[in-house]
Amino acid sequence: MGHSWVQYMGDFPNTEERLEMTNNADVLIIGGGFTGLMAATRLEHHGKRVMVLDKGRSIGGRMATRRLGERGVADHGAQFFTVRTPLFQSFVDHWLESKLVFLWSMGWSSGSLAPVTDDGHPRYAVSNGMNALMKQLASALQDVRINTEVSQLQAHGSQWQATDTQGAVYHAPMILLTPPVPQSLALLETGRITLNAEDREQLNAIEYLPNLTGLFAFDRDLRLPPPGAVQRRGAPISWIGNNKQKGISEDTVITVQADGTYSAQLWEDSDDRILNALFTDLRVYLSEDVMPRESQLKRWRYAYATHKHPQPYLLAQDHHGLMFAGDAFGTESRVEGAFTSGYLAGEALAAL
Ligand SMILES: Cc1cc2nc3c(=O)[nH]c(=O)nc-3n(C[C@H](O)[C@H](O)[C@H](O)COP(=O)(O)OP(=O)(O)OC[C@H]3O[C@@H](n4cnc5c(N)ncnc54)[C@H](O)[C@@H]3O)c2cc1C
Repeated sequence: MGHSWVQYMGDFPNTEERLEMTNNADVLIIGGGFTGLMAATRLEHHGKRVMVLDKGRSIGGRMATRRLGERGVADHGAQFFTVRTPLFQSFVDHWLESKLVFLWSMGWSSGSLAPVTDDGHPRYAVSNGMNALMKQLASALQDVRINTEVSQLQAHGSQWQATDTQGAVYHAPMILLTPPVPQSLALLETGRITLNAEDREQLNAIEYLPNLTGLFAFDRDLRLPPPGAVQRRGAPISWIGNNKQKGISEDTVITVQADGTYSAQLWEDSDDRILNALFTDLRVYLSEDVMPRESQLKRWRYAYATHKHPQPYLLAQDHHGLMFAGDAFGTESRVEGAFTSGYLAGEALAAL
């Protein structure tokens, strides 16, 4: 199987046409999560030719939505997002207006059935699932390729060369790496690209926690405390969300997430054992006899950055046009952190 084009200028190219294509761009972006797609959006705004390469079967990285059966849909990465900066708010306002994004809640239940307390912070979600926002961003870009895993990076004079697992080669004078940082550093090693001591130290200091997510689809209508989610900070199971109450699924599909510490503890167990552990906690909220029609486990090796780089991106000091970005960079966190990092990284690369 070759590449899949989310969107490509012109008709879908056949194999020969593909081999003849010159994979040259002004900027190569590795990773089509929120960071990579925002960076590409800004670079194209400034007239740059950009190629986004992502190894996933769909675009969006941790802004992930999965189908279960014909009528089940579940967000299995990010569940919602908050907004703290005017820049992100201006984008979110636009997406709210077009109904791409909606206000889900002003707070979460910690398990009780009492109405949630409004803590003044809107929690937003995406109509049809978080991934729909990523698809929308990708559809406005010139060249976004999924199923394209970069397995080697090399520096050739003033050009960066990326090679994917199918052997296709891509060139650009600038490259933006947006995978979780340990994966970006591993890519540099494939081409023996060494960073100076300061950059290396900054990047090596970034740390992530894993996350185990279980998805449970039911034939019956089930309800969680309003607005359809339970959040318990510091508890082993930190999030339980009903995608039907959220409004993105016809069937009841419940997302259950273990916190970082519990995920690390369970990580080596079999899928069945982990799903059992997650379901045991969910059961508290369900009638005794209800069993899921289907369940799935997702292992996120790098879910959240727990130790971040303070700046929104890092431009390598000893290599021209090599930049790192992602939700592990900058002062904003998670979804907003990815947006902000991508936006500012795109602006900075456009100005180089
Ligand atoms: C289970 C879970 C729950 C979460 N819940 C929330 C939440 O409720 N609220 C919130 O704000 N945040 C949440 N987050 C965090 C949020 O999802 C992330 O902060 C954000 O989506 C990160 O975006 P990113 O673009 O920086 O990284 P990613 O989305 O990880 O994007 C990186 C991309 O790089 C690609 N890639 C990696 N290696 C290669 C390669 N070699 N070649 C090509 N492509 C490659 C990957 O496929 C991926 O698409 C959650 C995350 C997880 C995992």
